[in-house]
Amino acid sequence: MSGSIDPHAAASPADSLPAPATPRASLADQPPPTEYRAAPSHQLLEVRGLHVWFELRGGGELHAVRGVDLDLRRGERLGLVGESGCGKSTALLALMGLLPASASVAGEVILDGRDIMAQGERSIRPHRWREVAMVFQGAMNAFNPVRTIGWQIAEPLRRHRSLSRAAARARVLELLELVGIPAGRAERYPHELSGGMRQRAAIAMALACDPKLLLADEPTTALDVMVQAQVLELLVSLSEELGLALVLVSHDLPAVTQVAERVAVMYAGEVVECAFTGELFDTPRHPYTAALVAATPDLLQATPLSSIPGAPPSLRSQLQGCAFAPRCGQRMQICERHPPTLAADADGRLFACHLNGGSPHHTLPPAPGGQAAVDSGTQDTERRS
Ligand code: SF4
Repeated sequence: MSGSIDPHAAASPADSLPAPATPRASLADQPPPTEYRAAPSHQLLEVRGLHVWFELRGGGELHAVRGVDLDLRRGERLGLVGESGCGKSTALLALMGLLPASASVAGEVILDGRDIMAQGERSIRPHRWREVAMVFQGAMNAFNPVRTIGWQIAEPLRRHRSLSRAAARARVLELLELVGIPAGRAERYPHELSGGMRQRAAIAMALACDPKLLLADEPTTALDVMVQAQVLELLVSLSEELGLALVLVSHDLPAVTQVAERVAVMYAGEVVECAFTGELFDTPRHPYTAALVAATPDLLQATPLSSIPGAPPSLRSQLQGCAFAPRCGQRMQICERHPPTLAADADGRLFACHLNGGSPHHTLPPAPGGQAAVDSGTQDTERRS
């Protein structure tokens, strides 16, 4: 995500938003395999059928996120990977309610048992920064250049916690210590800090109101590898120390393996595979995941680097069949006609592909209540914009 965003501003006028979208038939109707099923008290986040459309200036629309389902336990760290434009950052901004006015959103986002998108901005505002916070790509863009770091970290405390000046100041110093920044730097301006220090300050700002869930969008972009490793280590230690759940968006697969316990792979606005980190990289089930892994440089093995032929599809038009089919060396006839759905195979691995015993039908099995499940992207979905 680039560009200057006021991270504490309300996203869009949404008090007049319509009623919540009807949840689509999806993985919610299909009990996940035991290892992916968290006890309700451990469940922090459930995303069901999340869709995001952008209205285009010249007419038409872009369907950027196409029915994403995600689950996260308390304190769990999930990596979200995929090529540029696959919808990772857009999905995070939708969870924060920080999409521009040209976006429409549908789906359910259940945070700690409450649907925080049910009434658009009205229902998400009490949770933004207090329960779910975000670290933006490029810390320089997230800070106001004419305010000190300390002032900016204190801002969410003044806005959302109504702390006195002295109490906010004490909390700022506590947060700076937590992320490893000397207290004296509170009076510095963003341009006076190194890139790594700025990113730490951005993390401190996101943690100001003690959220349960931190969304980190490419938090190590433009940092050198040593500083990148330090920032990633910081995220892991904060997650463990504070019991903080984390969603890390990154193009950098080695960085994700350093942080995430589970990884979800996105392609063309959909999650195409989700698995524990080791399983996903050692035995990818989806051809796109396998291609991403093969395209990752390995300094310890002198294997030739491969690339993925072609380019992701345009999301301006309705996609037919599997979105990855034009680039997939293993495509079959069924792939061109029927979009595979994210489903668990006999081993409990979740992926959306007609190969490897996955997605044997283009519709999910009937839900427990007997209602037929529907393909992602073909169901009626009520929008909020
Ligand atoms: Fe390839 Fe078919 Fe699987 Fe799509 S569904 S990834 S085209 S094998």
